Amino acid sequence: MVQKVPKVKLSSGHEMPIVGLGTYARKADPAQYRQGVEWGIEAGYRHIDTASSYNNEVYVGEGINNKIKDGTVTRDQLFVTTKLWNNCHAESDVVPSLKDSLARLKLDYVDLYLVHWPVSVNANGGDADIDYLETWRGMEEAVKLGLAKSIGVSNFNEQQLERLIKAANIKPVCNQFEINPTLTQHKLVDFCKKLSVVPVAYTPLGLISEARPEFNGLDAIKTDARLGDIAQKYGKTRAQIALKYLLQRDIVVVPKSFTKSRIAENLELFDFELTQDEMTIVDGFNINHRCVPANAFSSFKNYPF
Ligand code: NDP
Repeated sequence: MVQKVPKVKLSSGHEMPIVGLGTYARKADPAQYRQGVEWGIEAGYRHIDTASSYNNEVYVGEGINNKIKDGTVTRDQLFVTTKLWNNCHAESDVVPSLKDSLARLKLDYVDLYLVHWPVSVNANGGDADIDYLETWRGMEEAVKLGLAKSIGVSNFNEQQLERLIKAANIKPVCNQFEINPTLTQHKLVDFCKKLSVVPVAYTPLGLISEARPEFNGLDAIKTDARLGDIAQKYGKTRAQIALKYLLQRDIVVVPKSFTKSRIAENLELFDFELTQDEMTIVDGFNINHRCVPANAFSSFKNYPF
């Protein structure tokens, strides 16, 4: 069954489907990316999340274009996101970097271009210490040129987001950061909403994901009976409960899967509603654990965590 996914209105006036397909994999074949995206679009995903740093834009673009060519979707039905990497934060590097991404994706525009991190990296891998306000001017240029319909940020903390919004001519429509039941992020989520910045959850499955190794015995979320009971009550999996918990907090989610059954599973979220008590139970798994601490940047001036 093809799922129809609701959309959220962005401050740019464009609309973003509230469930997107993540595409990051530490290791995958070109065919897995391509096939994952094709299965995603067949299942009903209309929002695809990639990044130049994932080194997969060519294959993600092939999947997208295959599904446009075979008539499953039109380009304007899709919402495609890619991200600017940290070594291209100079204002003059932003548009060329997006053009490179578009060439790899074989698309004329992206729906959303994100500053992947507030930190910038120089040619030696050290801190380039470029102000993200400078980077943002390049992002605004991308909108003016019609290369990106909307622009936003990722991994920005409250201070960084507030400073950016004060200076920006075109506001960031979203902040994509890690949110899941073991990293609930209430403060930053509320802050984003106050500023009309849509919170987008990456790694939304957190420690529930089979890919995450055991974590100091703190991953009770995989076995806890209360969560099992909630899942059983609705005929859903723990992963679906985690995603629904985020959606009910008005957070967009971009779960990644290249497994056909899970791609479909992660979209089957619109035929049940968690009660307030159930939301509180899921919320209670918070241990403020980051799956993506980005330790490589921890000594950089703009490290956000
Ligand atoms: P997720 O929380 O989406 O988990 C993905 C992992 O969980 C995969 O190994 C997948 O395996 C497995 N999985 C998927 N669905 C299920 C399910 N229903 N039950 C059990 N296991 C499942 O983590 P990600 O880190 O991939 O985050 C999602 C996306 O967010 C990324 O792909 C990327 O697009 C984006 N992201 C952005 C970042 C940023 O800095 N802006 C940082 C990290 C991620 P399998 O594929 O084998 O099914």
